[in-house]
Amino acid sequence: MPSEFELIARYFTRGTTHTLLGVGDDGALIAPTPGHELVISTDMLVEGTHFLPGTDPGDLGWKTLAVNVSDIAAMGARPRWATLAAALPAADEAWIAAFAQGVFACADEFGIDLIGGDTTRGPRNFCVTIFGEVESGRALRRSGAKAGDEIWVSGRPGRAALGLAHLQGRLHLDEPELSDCIAALQRPQPRVSLGLALQGLASAAIDVSDGLLADLGHILEASRVAAHLKIAVVPAPTFQRDAWLAGGDDYELVFTTPATKHADTAALSQTLGLALTCIGHIEDGPAGRIDLRDAQGTPIAAPRRGYDHFMSLPEAGTVSPADMSLPEAGTVSPDA
Ligand code: ADP
Ligand code: MG
Repeated sequence: MPSEFELIARYFTRGTTHTLLGVGDDGALIAPTPGHELVISTDMLVEGTHFLPGTDPGDLGWKTLAVNVSDIAAMGARPRWATLAAALPAADEAWIAAFAQGVFACADEFGIDLIGGDTTRGPRNFCVTIFGEVESGRALRRSGAKAGDEIWVSGRPGRAALGLAHLQGRLHLDEPELSDCIAALQRPQPRVSLGLALQGLASAAIDVSDGLLADLGHILEASRVAAHLKIAVVPAPTFQRDAWLAGGDDYELVFTTPATKHADTAALSQTLGLALTCIGHIEDGPAGRIDLRDAQGTPIAAPRRGYDHFMSLPEAGTVSPADMSLPEAGTVSPDA
């Protein structure tokens, strides 16, 4: 059975490209690029909460890093370094090798050096801290959306939730949707190029980890504004619509741009080869309110906004099936 140090040396130690001192000492040394700010974010993946037991280790390695890359993308920054804390139930070398391969595949794709971490025995759980860089003063925040700005979303949200529902037997998908939705769930593609292109263009941005309504809600609350969503752009079948509006785990970006920049934003879609859809606009109103209407302008009921770890715990005693739809049709209240 390999020791902790053999595991680290064998699977988590690799050459770096832009790091002074990486894995192997008590701390790593990095030299931030002059004129830049560091963007730092941490995300944890816990078995049973964020991934199903039995998930392919290569996919899991990719996703463990990718969800962190997505936060850097949402800040309009470039990912540069990461640390990885891993709790593993056993020193299963085939599993760890495949997991590490997934981590490094994502690291290579986005130009990240793995510079340290911690390895311990325990229930399977991974925690990455990622360090990105952005030119000073250029980071995107949640707090800059203004009345009149347009709301855009990248890609096709809801695919990961549909893939998960299929794996859980709650829904049946056929090809080619099946492969597409499973890929969205297991190998999410963080929108780094989009985030970088939105510097100086977007007034606010966030990545969709918990669900589009929930994450848009964070922009609205941080910016003290409300939103009007054009439901006509959303797929019609109820389950798909709910996945689109409230399904988490897609790692698309939701962002706002001034209406005067509509053409520039639309042109980005061409440049990046990535769907960008204008889904509504920001308006003055109670902070966090989302007004959902159908193509005729009739208010429609929204699904639950998104995923909340603590609200979803049965012990909390506050979640009933009734919470899945909202009391006041058409308006999602800030505390929904
Ligand atoms: P210490 O006891 O000083 O905290 P460790 O023995 O935990 O150091 O780790 C030894 C080295 O290996 C450190 O540089 C640490 O950052 C790195 N490391 C440990 N686990 C991982 C991992 N899963 N991925 C990357 N680096 C790791
Ligand atoms: Mg340690």
